[in-house]
Amino acid sequence: MTERVSLKVVAQNYDQLYAEGQEILKNHNPCKWVDDTCWYMRENNEPHCCIGCNILGDTGCTTRNLGCTLWLCKAVSATPDGRKAAAELKELKARAYEQVGLNVTETVRRTREVALACEK
Ligand code: SF4
Ligand code: SF4
Repeated sequence: MTERVSLKVVAQNYDQLYAEGQEILKNHNPCKWVDDTCWYMRENNEPHCCIGCNILGDTGCTTRNLGCTLWLCKAVSATPDGRKAAAELKELKARAYEQVGLNVTETVRRTREVALACEK
């Protein structure tokens, strides 16, 4: 029982952190997507960081991954927007470690996916 309550709190924290992370990305646009290319792709002529991930769908990521939301490649630090986003995400990451522990984010994500699938 204690474990269930605790997971609920962790899931709530996860949702909050994810929403804040998405807001940071929206505000600063560090990846600078233009059509289907991001900043890193244009600078390096290489695929972006989601290529090869089995969760990537036709219209982008098919899940709400906090770990990925908190991560940016080093290429984004070449722009002021990218540096701002990276700094804010770093602070959020520190909170994520405290509130959900990044080692459990995958477990929470999967649990929520199963729960959402059961609701359908
Ligand atoms: S983090 Fe880097 S590689 Fe990934 S989408 Fe953004 S710019 Fe592209
Ligand atoms: S989980 Fe989503 S954001 Fe993370 S690498 Fe895969 S497609 Fe990209």
